[in-house]
Amino acid sequence: MIDTHCHLTYEPLLGRVEDVVAQAKRAGVDRMISVGTSPDDARLALGLTRRFDNIWSTVGVHPHYSDKWLDRGAVDAVIDELAAEPRVVALGEMGLDRHYPDPPMEVQCRALSWQLEAAHRHAQLPIIIHNREATDETLAILRDSGLAPSRFVFHCFTGRLDELEAILAFGAMVSFTGITTFPSATYIADAAARMPLDRIMIETDSPYLTPEPHRKVRPNEPKYVADVAAFIARRRDMAPADFVATVDANADRFFRLQSR
Ligand SMILES: [Zn+2]
Repeated sequence: MIDTHCHLTYEPLLGRVEDVVAQAKRAGVDRMISVGTSPDDARLALGLTRRFDNIWSTVGVHPHYSDKWLDRGAVDAVIDELAAEPRVVALGEMGLDRHYPDPPMEVQCRALSWQLEAAHRHAQLPIIIHNREATDETLAILRDSGLAPSRFVFHCFTGRLDELEAILAFGAMVSFTGITTFPSATYIADAAARMPLDRIMIETDSPYLTPEPHRKVRPNEPKYVADVAAFIARRRDMAPADFVATVDANADRFFRLQSR
């Protein structure tokens, strides 16, 4: 199965990435997308795709790092360079995060807008959206961008049901992490249970957010995406294998991994 969103370049995973990939394979997780969160990180992730034929990568500026990348020319240059690489399968992650006071929202919005303009130049690539406590603003900016809603995935969904409905009405995909399995987050499990089957994907967002029943294990790893799948399948009364086949087909279609 596919882990559609992990950060293999982050310290707790990068130093032992061979082992992480081998353990994932043993757990049936044979493909993964290592998502870039800054131009430097995206280069590192691209480097991993050259070492492993079952890793793909992305290029983008995460809102948390938007204040470190204030030079638009530099950001655009890296995006244009990496977006041309066959193993780079998406732009992002990019978006808005209101959970912490910094960086200021205007800086986050500007970084998002630059990247959405770049997305017009790279029309072949889907776009990974990070949204935390900023659904309305994010959707407004995405609508204004004029980009096709079907190009977007809202990763690591943690919102309310009305936010889910708004994202679905917009037309984006929605992806769920280990948070969905936390007993304190039944509203997210409810959201995963009512997702249309052709719009849902799953991910680990490792090294963070280890799913139950391994929640105390740190760091999280791609191998645990199977636990996210099993949990949501149970909530939907589906056989886990059927659910995995469904989300994998969605990921294949969305990221076009087969042809890259
Ligand atoms: Zn992420």
